[in-house]
Amino acid sequence: MQQLRNNKIVTPTIIRRSEHNISRANISENAVKVLYRLHNAGFAALLVGGGVRDLLLGREPKDFDVATNARPEEVRAVFRNCRLIGRRFRLAHVHFGREIIEVATFRGVQEADGPTNGTADNGMLLRDNVYGTIEEDALRRDFTVNALYYNIEDFTVIDYTQGLDDLEKGVLRLLGDPETRYREDPVRMLRAVRFSAKLGFRIDEACAAPLTRCASLLRSVPAARLFEEILKLFMSGTAVQAFEKLRHYNLFAELFPETDECLAHQDQEYPITFVVRGLHNTDLRIREGKPVTPAFLYAVLLWEPVRRLTNALVASGDAPAVAVQQAGAEVIERQISQTSIPRRFSLPMREIWQLQHRLDQRGGKRAKRLMTHPRFRAAYDFLLLRAEAGEADPELAEWWTTIQEAQPELQNRMLSTLATQPRRGRRRRRSSSAVSPADD
Ligand code: ATP
Ligand code: MG
Repeated sequence: MQQLRNNKIVTPTIIRRSEHNISRANISENAVKVLYRLHNAGFAALLVGGGVRDLLLGREPKDFDVATNARPEEVRAVFRNCRLIGRRFRLAHVHFGREIIEVATFRGVQEADGPTNGTADNGMLLRDNVYGTIEEDALRRDFTVNALYYNIEDFTVIDYTQGLDDLEKGVLRLLGDPETRYREDPVRMLRAVRFSAKLGFRIDEACAAPLTRCASLLRSVPAARLFEEILKLFMSGTAVQAFEKLRHYNLFAELFPETDECLAHQDQEYPITFVVRGLHNTDLRIREGKPVTPAFLYAVLLWEPVRRLTNALVASGDAPAVAVQQAGAEVIERQISQTSIPRRFSLPMREIWQLQHRLDQRGGKRAKRLMTHPRFRAAYDFLLLRAEAGEADPELAEWWTTIQEAQPELQNRMLSTLATQPRRGRRRRRSSSAVSPADD
């Protein structure tokens, strides 16, 4: 027993092996190895965090984190395949081919009650490098359901925070005072949304209440960390729910201000339909085990601002191909001050946008050449989404679907018919010119 945060006495609930469902068979072999090696070297070794939470829920964990009383240097001495990382808080990474088991030494609690104790004026944690006991380690975690431990010594589950109750009820509850915890680390707001979307859990009222009020705290989070967190929000198979919750708590506006603006002040339906369908597609692909790329995702999320700016530039006299290039560059430039986008993703994003214009220029040899473009498939998928959302011409999308599947003879016929037709679009309300409708 320990006197901890707010002088509360922390007595853990211990759940014996016969009373919970965690079996070593469901833990990655490498994580089990790490646990046993540490245990055999005389250290405490426990699984903690999402691994324990997901196993208790009967879900397949994404990764396995280990907590121990061994110091990082002591961990390194036990494993040959181990690297120490992190400056703020040293962590040991034990490498097994592509799998990494993260081993963290029990960490102490930092109280946010003064300028000299490791927090900035706004309450953000600056210093986080104090080792502690397992009880302290439990209390500095974010949510009660993330603070459960599985002890390799006796296969018990240890609960210092009534996390099991919340797990059963399906509730996400922060440890400690919610606003203080959001101020210490604003990313916890995004984590609340992410776990709530992923697990279908309700965010406890007291934890949900400060979200909108605290949303602007996200501005102080480094852009690169936000980028990582956004990928987790939108690439975990529950992107639609995450998007809706982010919008509900006004957090989306902090992450994608320009997109949010477009979605908020619109009388048309399609911008929001387009984003939701794009995210839904991503969710389906993940469920089917198909690859998804951050480039496509970001291209979807930023399309509406790009499309509007393109149209504005075209209206002021730019050629569509130049306009879309310029608009893409500008929107990305502004977005990266919010959440960084590595160049390996921003380049393909811009290509997907630029190809939207070229997909409408099908005459002569253009269509066939376009089909060999490395980004053709992504651009075509993007066009399908636009058409589904009612923003691009469905006939254009269909034409591309047909020609891809057609035998060479039909392909040639399609192309020659195209040459003799008057340019479509002029007669339609929804033209498929450049980047679509001028009905802004
Ligand atoms: P998943 O891996 O499924 O996304 P997770 O809960 O394991 O979920 P990680 O980011 O892997 O999340 O973090 C592991 C554990 O570390 C968490 O369960 C939590 O206990 C703790 N943790 C992570 N981030 C924070 C944070 N910002 N504040 C407090 N504790 C955190
Ligand atoms: Mg994890």
